Amino acid sequence: MNNIERLLDREFSRNDIVRLLSLTESEDVEKLRKKAFDLTTELLGSNVYFRGLIEFSNICNLNCYYCGIRKDNDNVERYMLSKKEIVDCAVWAAKVGYGSCVLQSGERRDGQFVSFVEACVREIKEKTRSDSMPDGLGITLSVGEQSSDVYKRFFEAGAHRYLLRIETSNQKLFSKLHPAGQDYGERKEAIKNLKKIGYQVGTGVMIGTPGQTIEDLADDILFFKENDIDMIGMGPYIVHPDSPMKEQGMKERRSLLQLSLNMIAVVRLFLKDVNIAATTALQALAPDGREQGILYGANIVMPNMTPKDARKNYQLYDGKPCINETKDECRGCLQKRIESTGRKVGYNLWGDSKHFKFN
Ligand code: SF4
Repeated sequence: MNNIERLLDREFSRNDIVRLLSLTESEDVEKLRKKAFDLTTELLGSNVYFRGLIEFSNICNLNCYYCGIRKDNDNVERYMLSKKEIVDCAVWAAKVGYGSCVLQSGERRDGQFVSFVEACVREIKEKTRSDSMPDGLGITLSVGEQSSDVYKRFFEAGAHRYLLRIETSNQKLFSKLHPAGQDYGERKEAIKNLKKIGYQVGTGVMIGTPGQTIEDLADDILFFKENDIDMIGMGPYIVHPDSPMKEQGMKERRSLLQLSLNMIAVVRLFLKDVNIAATTALQALAPDGREQGILYGANIVMPNMTPKDARKNYQLYDGKPCINETKDECRGCLQKRIESTGRKVGYNLWGDSKHFKFN
């Protein structure tokens, strides 16, 4: 047994996590990858679950420094899909066997927006019940920080998963990524509130932001553990040309991809039974980025179902793939990509986080 094999076989310390995240030699990286892939198979089986993504509005009241649809970016055409458009997308997803959908948007907290989201969730539930899915589509929301009362309303309407990315667990770095007024402590509190209400909670970080260290990423992984997170969605940081952070550039693409894949593998090995998404941003770095994510231990893929005309206006980072494909094209393409990794799509299943179920 060499050093890496010994390391992979024990409970990881923070230093171990740092070492594993830093691996670059192909032989070592392959050992890490295989261990993570095999553990995924052992704990979660061979299914990869689809979460049909509906980016229903790019209107946002916030100004995260890295984001392409931040409020102050005047180069973006703003849109908001109608309830009918959203529900139609979800009904289509249920019909083709996706099992779950994700409603995602920029952040708004006004009453009109909250009632709109609540009504969409209720109607999706009503219209997607069938013999193959008696409880309707699984619904994940990703609509930012809201009050506990609002989270409860969404939960009672039928949403049972919520994604709220912390982006970094380093408070200083958080304040470099967000303007004053967006508070790290409040984001953390919101994650706790979601857990209390009973959601399966997802969070995640950007990998490779300017000023971030490998130790920061190790702390992010410890943060996931400490906060008992059920679902992880992490993506490489890719600079957006209209963002205030553009001058700071980004990491070299090949090493950024490897670091992102190492993060997936280490999260799988350390957190074990959580759901991990192979995010679209991986594919912006390499044509087979999402397949690689699955080979490193991810088990969730989010096919984009946003109507084509709106899609081009929902670009949080530069070079987002799948902008010109229809939802039918995405479905066929992703199924092939998943099968090329030796996994299969878990059609008509929610594919909930096992971590949530057994804790
Ligand atoms: S990251 Fe989200 S909350 Fe921040 S500006 Fe972009 S859409 Fe708005």
